[in-house]
Amino acid sequence: MKDTEFVNDFENKAKKTIFDCSLASKRDRIAVACSGGKDSTAVLYLLKKFGYNVFAVYIDLGIGDYSKKCLENIKKFCSGNKINLHVVSIKGEFGCNICYIRSNIQEKHKLSNCTICGVIKRWILNKEARKLKATKLATGHNLDDEAQTIIVNFLKGNVLLGMNSGPLTGIIKDKRFVTRIKPLYFHAESDIRKYSEIMQFPVSYERCPCAIGTYRIETRRFLAELGRNTKENIVKNFLKMLPSIRNHFYDKVQKLKYCSSCGEPSRNEVCNACKLIAKQK
Ligand code: SF4
Ligand code: ZN
Repeated sequence: MKDTEFVNDFENKAKKTIFDCSLASKRDRIAVACSGGKDSTAVLYLLKKFGYNVFAVYIDLGIGDYSKKCLENIKKFCSGNKINLHVVSIKGEFGCNICYIRSNIQEKHKLSNCTICGVIKRWILNKEARKLKATKLATGHNLDDEAQTIIVNFLKGNVLLGMNSGPLTGIIKDKRFVTRIKPLYFHAESDIRKYSEIMQFPVSYERCPCAIGTYRIETRRFLAELGRNTKENIVKNFLKMLPSIRNHFYDKVQKLKYCSSCGEPSRNEVCNACKLIAKQK
């Protein structure tokens, strides 16, 4: 396939996902969670190109040169495309970088790097997106990520976690919870990489140096051997089951409350981020 044909197909597929799954309207103000990598940069670029009101949020995790390079990338991209960028630093929020927080928690609790980092990032992103009056929060999750999540939840026997999956997340609507959208939900990671290379996005293709030893990485390897069709089937079949999963578990899920410590939406008295930070002390 020629490059122009590939680019058109890629962009039309994203448009179709946004339209078919009712991800956004032109009235939305969309915060895009940017990491400086190919996936979130492609989402930011496409939403802007399609005429949505977007801005970027970057969380500086303080992972040495890796975070520095990612921040440079996203700054370059946003200034070149006239997009507002908001940078939130973990150090500013918690007084130390993510590696320090993690090592303190991991001394006492067996949690992977990505589990800790993921909880903290989600907490910050929701808070920042709301503060900046975003009506949607877009992420760069792709087909490979989603297939991995479905399999990991299944292997851990935690189908309930899948309730919040899908291109549009959040079954419970709450004014303090910014709905998350995934415009690249049906795009394979390899296609996003190709698109990013053709478009010459200033991004890093390096993996995060802290992504080590997780269940998810092993699942990624296993799915890579099975190929693209298998990943597509996993995601498509999961989406067929999703309405029944949501119906089945809806009443069993605790209603959304507000964390007694930070006030963010939470299913429990204290949210996961505050529990982790308390474990750190
Ligand atoms: Fe955090 Fe894991 Fe992502 Fe690295 S790969 S930024 S540790 S969630
Ligand atoms: Zn909290």
